[in-house]
Amino acid sequence: MVGAGCATAAETVRSQASVMPKGADWIKAAAESVDPDQQSVTLSDGRTVGYDYLVVCPGIQLNFTGVSGMAEAMETPSVSSNYVLESTAKTWRNIQGVKKGTALFTMPAGPIKCAGAPQKIAYLSADYWRQQGNLKDMRVVLVLPTPGMFGVKAFADELERVVARYGIEVHKNSELIEIDGEGRTAVIRDNTDQSTQTIDFDMAHVVPPQSAPDWIKGGPLADPENPAGYVEVDKNSMQQTRFPNIFALGDAGSTPNSKTGAAVRKQYPVVVQNLQAQMAGTPLDGSYGGYASCPLTTARNKMLLAEFDYTMEPKPSFPFIDTTKERRDMWYLKRRGLPTLYWNVMMKGRG
Ligand SMILES: Cc1cc2nc3c(=O)[nH]c(=O)nc-3n(C[C@H](O)[C@H](O)[C@H](O)COP(=O)(O)OP(=O)(O)OC[C@H]3O[C@@H](n4cnc5c(N)ncnc54)[C@H](O)[C@@H]3O)c2cc1C
Repeated sequence: MVGAGCATAAETVRSQASVMPKGADWIKAAAESVDPDQQSVTLSDGRTVGYDYLVVCPGIQLNFTGVSGMAEAMETPSVSSNYVLESTAKTWRNIQGVKKGTALFTMPAGPIKCAGAPQKIAYLSADYWRQQGNLKDMRVVLVLPTPGMFGVKAFADELERVVARYGIEVHKNSELIEIDGEGRTAVIRDNTDQSTQTIDFDMAHVVPPQSAPDWIKGGPLADPENPAGYVEVDKNSMQQTRFPNIFALGDAGSTPNSKTGAAVRKQYPVVVQNLQAQMAGTPLDGSYGGYASCPLTTARNKMLLAEFDYTMEPKPSFPFIDTTKERRDMWYLKRRGLPTLYWNVMMKGRG
C-alpha cells in the first residue's frame, strides 16, 4: 500500500521500545548462533546468553545478490522493491512517472514472505494507470514462478479475471534471472522449456529470492538433510524436532504454510500454550493447522481476502460473505482493520 501511494511509510512504523512487552529484558544485539547442548545464544557484541527455553523468530533473509544484477539495479532510479521500506517511495515515484511503456513486476522461485505481494503492487499500479487513462499505453508484465496465479483454485480463478481486466501479460513458470538497472533490460526464463527472453522496461518492481537466515541455515536448529535451512519444527506443535525446550514460529520456521503475518497470529498462541505445557511437563495440546491469509489488493478500492490452511482449501473468517471474490468492504479491512489488529491485538498478545 505504501509503494502504491495508498498509505504513508510513517503509518507502518513504530519504535521497537513502544511495542516492547513490560517485564521483558531487551537485549540490543543480534543473535549470531545457538548452542542447543550448552543452552546458550551468542550475540553480535560477543556476549553469550544462557536459556532454559528458547523461542526463535528472526524472520526470513532477503537475497538481492541471488539474481544477477539485482542488487546493483536497486541503486538505479527505475528499479525498486517494496520488500525494502526505503525503496517504497521509489516504487510510488515510478508508478506516477511512467505514463507509457513497459512496467515489469517479478516474483522469485522458492518460499518468500507474503507470496501475494509481488502481484498486489502490479494490480495497484495497473489500476492507477487505468484511473489516469494511461493503462492503454502500458505493457504490464508480471513474472510468476508458479504454474497458476495462486495455490488455491477459488482465488486463482478470481485473479485470472483481475489480470484479464487490466490486460496484464502474465509469464507463469517463469523467473527473472538477470537485470540491468542502468540499461533497463531484464532477462526472464521460462522454466518449462528453459527458454529466455529479454524485456526492455521503463520501471521494474522486483522481489528478491529469500531463504532462512544464514546463521540459522548453517546451525544446529536446521534440518541437516534439508537445504532450505529453516528452524526445524513440528508443523502442528511448533516445537523443535530434536530440542524440546526450543520452539520457532514465523518466517524462519520450517512449517509448510504460506509465510505471512497472518500465520504468525495463529502460531503464537500455540507456541505459548505448548511452551507452558513443556515447562509444566504436561502434554502439548496446542496445534497450528497451517492458517495463512493473503489480503490481495486487486484495485485501489478492492481486496481479495485469500484465507486457507494446510488443506489448501479456503478457510474464510467471514463465512457469511463470499470472500472468493474481490470486494470493496475488504479494502477497508485491509486499509484500516488489519493495521488496528496488528498494533492493538497481535503486538499486545491478545490473539
Ligand atoms: C511487501 C510485503 C507485504 C506483506 N504483506 C502481508 C500481508 O498483507 N499480510 C500478511 O499477513 N503478511 C504480509 N507480509 C509478510 C509478513 O510481513 C511476514 O510474514 C511477517 O512479518 C513475519 O513475521 P516474523 O516475526 O517471522 O518476521 P519479521 O517480521 O521479519 O521479524 C523478525 C524480527 O527479528 C529480528 N531479527 C532478525 N534477525 C535477528 C537476529 N539475528 N537477532 C535478533 N533479532 C533478529 C528482526 O529485526 C525483526 O524484528 C508482507 C511482507 C512484505 C515484505
